Amino acid sequence: MNDKPKIWLSSPHMGEMEQAFVKEAFDTNWIAPLGPHVNDFEKDLCNYTGVKYAAALSSGTAAIHLALILLGISNGDNVLCQSMTFSASANPIIYQGATPVFIDSEGETWNMSPEFLEEAIISFLKKNAKPKAIIPVHLYGMPANMEVICEIGKKYNIPIIEDAAEAFGSNIGGKNCGTFGELNVLSFNGNKIITTSSGGALLSDDEKLIKKARFLATQARDNAPHYQHSNIGYNYRLSNVLAGIGRGQMLVLDKRVEQRRNNYQFYKQYFEEKNKKGYNIVLQPEPESCFSNRWLTAIIINPIQNKNITRETLRLALNKENIESRPLWKPMHQQPVFVEAPFFGDGTSERLFANGLCLPSGSNLTEKDFARITNAMDKVFK
Ligand SMILES: *Cc1c(COP(=O)(O)O)cnc(C)c1O
Repeated sequence: MNDKPKIWLSSPHMGEMEQAFVKEAFDTNWIAPLGPHVNDFEKDLCNYTGVKYAAALSSGTAAIHLALILLGISNGDNVLCQSMTFSASANPIIYQGATPVFIDSEGETWNMSPEFLEEAIISFLKKNAKPKAIIPVHLYGMPANMEVICEIGKKYNIPIIEDAAEAFGSNIGGKNCGTFGELNVLSFNGNKIITTSSGGALLSDDEKLIKKARFLATQARDNAPHYQHSNIGYNYRLSNVLAGIGRGQMLVLDKRVEQRRNNYQFYKQYFEEKNKKGYNIVLQPEPESCFSNRWLTAIIINPIQNKNITRETLRLALNKENIESRPLWKPMHQQPVFVEAPFFGDGTSERLFANGLCLPSGSNLTEKDFARITNAMDKVFK
C-alpha cells in the first residue's frame, strides 16, 4: 500500500527560471551571503509588497529575532503573541530573555482576537508592565484582523511585528500582508508558498531599521579595516545562491497563489457535496475584503455534527494511503515548553486545534493526486 508515492501537505514547486539564476551565481562566483541576487531579490520583495525596504535573511525565525532586537526587547519585557501559530513566532521572544503573553484566536479569522489583545494590554498596564510588541500571525494565509489590531497598537503605542510567514501573496482590501507592522516577516522555508529551500525576510518602511538589520545579520562589523565590533552580531544573511532561487520563485508567486486557491475551491465543492448528505464540515472562512493565498486548506470537523468522525479519523485514513495531512497548529499556551506563559482567551484556539485538519495543499498537486485524496476521504464520508 505504501509503495504509492507520498502526497505531501505542501512541497516545493520550482518554476522555469530558478536554475538559470543559480547557475548565474556559480558562473560569477557569487557564492556568499551577499551578492547581486540578494540585492535584486530584496528589490523584488519591495516591488511586490509595496514596502520600502527589505533585508533577505537566512530564515523567518531570524527575521522575527532581529525584529525583537531592533525594538530593544530584552530581559523581563512582555511580548504579546498569537497563541495559535507555529513555535517560531514565539521562540525568539525567549531568545531575548523576554516573556511571551499568548493571545487566543477569534472565530472569524482563526487569528489573534483583538478583544483579548486589548484585555491583555489593559491588564499589563495596571501592573505597570507595558508590553513591548504585538506579534499577530496570518494562519494558513488568512489575514488577521489587522485594521483593529493596528488601531490597538496605535492607541497604546505598541509596535507590531507582523508574522506574514504563511501569507505572502495575501492582502486586505488590496494592501499586502507583510506591510501592516512596524516590522514585517516573511519565510521562504521549503513548505511555504514560495521557497528558497530555507530563507526569510524582514520588511519595513523605516530605512534605519532595515539598515541596522543588515548590519546585525552580518556579524555587526564596525566600519574599520580590521574586524571591530561594538555590538553582538548574528550570521543571519541569505546566501546569494538561495536568493537566485528566490528570484525565480518571485516570477511564479501569483501563479502559485492561484493554484492554491484552486485547491481550496476543489475541497470546498467536495465538502459541500458531503454536507448535503448530513455532514457539517467547515472550511476556514475568508472574511469580506480579505484575500487569502490559501497556503493550506484547513477544515473543522466537529464529531458531534459529523457522525462521530474526528479529524484523527480522517488524518489516519489519509495516512493509510500515504497522504500527509496535519492537525492545525497546537496553541502555544498548551505547549509544555510554554506552560508558565500568561494567556488571555476563551478557548477558541483550543477548540480549533481539537477539530481542525490541514489538507494536502501543494501548488503542484495533480488530478491524479486529488483522485487519491478524494478516494481516501470517500471511505470516511460514506
Ligand atoms: C514558517 C513559519 C515561521 C518561521 O519561518 P522559518 O523560515 O521556517 O524560520 C514563523 N512563523 C510562522 C507562522 C511560520 O509558519
